[in-house]
Amino acid sequence: MTTLMPTTFFGHGNPMNALSRNVYTDDWASIGKSIPRPRAVLAVSAHWYIPACAVTANPAPRTIHDFGGFLRELYEVTYPAPGSPELARQVKDLLSPAAARFDETWGLDHGTWTVLTHVFPKADIPVVQLSIDERQPPMFHYQMGKRLATLREEGVLVIGSGNIVHNLHTYAWGDRRIQTFDWAVRFEQKGQDFILEGDDAQVVFYQNLGRDAMLAVPTPDHYLPLLYMLGLRKENEQISFPVPGVDGGSISMLAVQMG
Ligand code: ZN
Repeated sequence: MTTLMPTTFFGHGNPMNALSRNVYTDDWASIGKSIPRPRAVLAVSAHWYIPACAVTANPAPRTIHDFGGFLRELYEVTYPAPGSPELARQVKDLLSPAAARFDETWGLDHGTWTVLTHVFPKADIPVVQLSIDERQPPMFHYQMGKRLATLREEGVLVIGSGNIVHNLHTYAWGDRRIQTFDWAVRFEQKGQDFILEGDDAQVVFYQNLGRDAMLAVPTPDHYLPLLYMLGLRKENEQISFPVPGVDGGSISMLAVQMG
């Protein structure tokens, strides 16, 4: 296959986006229509943040409802995309010398399916998830992205799902009119500038960016998927931000697309 697949980081935000139609989900659907059809999707989700490097190898991954306190309807959503043991094997090989293990118990968590429900609504493209190894520093995750870069030449769409700014303590659930916090605006803007300038080191070592970074990224789980996408970027590749916006004051919905 000759078409180079793009690689996209999605800001997934509120799980209710799976059921909603809004500006974010409309943009997600547009992304699905604008890119070549992939042979498979590899997803790095903020919600599989565990002390291990694992790849889902189940040919029929279950839909995981890994949240509490939402409408019953949301627990009834399924995303019955097949898995791909073949892609799982390929990912494990590419990640070496990092020792990834196959996982048969995890499936597709809401970081993955809230987005894919809109991007590929037919759920007919195989999906594999790669965990985020919580024991590792940010640079490790950036390097893991680099090791996966050849997948883009083989028709695999690698996506990250998290949020560049993700502070639930200050988040106004369901209120999109609330004014965005200054620190959230600044941190998101800085991130976009560094990405456009190709200054990956600043994005990787975000912990050096002071108080704004501490507020925007109080825990690393939602931020780290972005580092995989940066690692997957080709030199001088076109970059776009196909989904803008900050939800509830402190959840950035920004999507970042390379290619
Ligand atoms: Zn989340």
